[in-house]
Amino acid sequence: MDTELRGIGMTSARTRERLINRLRDVGIADERVLEVIRTTPRHYFIDEALAHQAYDDTALPIGHGQTISQPWVVARMTELLIAERVPDKVLEIGTGCGYQTAVLAALCPQVYSVERIRPLQDQARQRLISLGLARVQLKHADGGFGWKAAAPFDGILVACARPEIPRELLDQLADGGRLVMPVGDRTQHLTVVDRQGDEIRTRQLDAVRFVPFQRGVQ
Ligand code: SAH
Repeated sequence: MDTELRGIGMTSARTRERLINRLRDVGIADERVLEVIRTTPRHYFIDEALAHQAYDDTALPIGHGQTISQPWVVARMTELLIAERVPDKVLEIGTGCGYQTAVLAALCPQVYSVERIRPLQDQARQRLISLGLARVQLKHADGGFGWKAAAPFDGILVACARPEIPRELLDQLADGGRLVMPVGDRTQHLTVVDRQGDEIRTRQLDAVRFVPFQRGVQ
């Protein structure tokens, strides 16, 4: 592992511990999630010029008009996704820089992730490989169609917002599975969907601000 990955200077253990304390203060309680956030090098997923802010609890630009989600959002969505049971097979929509993907891969055995912007996906792939996470499956596609060939999924995590949950994603959710997604337009809420047989239970939780779930690829 090179020095960048080991975490030196501004990415020191103390800086990361401050983020963990901040996450506890804002209500993240799942120790499994806190441990993964502590050990995942967020500075590695962003531009070097922004690395000094990597362990602040803020979203940061990653190019192409997109952002790396705020650590609280990543922690909260992950906590919700694994609350009842750790899903065996997870689909993520919106790989972006790959940070949330790495967090999921540390917890769940099988991770599939879809991104519509090719250069972001290429960069994410390189980063995940250097972190030893080559087993994550990545696809360049419009995530609105899910990943039919690999369905059903025990967990689906969507990192971009839309006023409605795409039908295809609900169709690809396994019996007993859970989907977590920001739903809304200007005002968005983290939404948790549980499937039990033909029954779909939906709960609206925290108010959030995500980049839009867009159509097509680029
Ligand atoms: N998971 C990232 C967050 C990335 S921001 C993190 O760890 O911080 C959301 C991402 O969703 C962007 O990269 C955007 O390009 C992507 N996105 C938006 N609409 C999409 C779609 N229809 N299919 C796949 N990805 C999409």
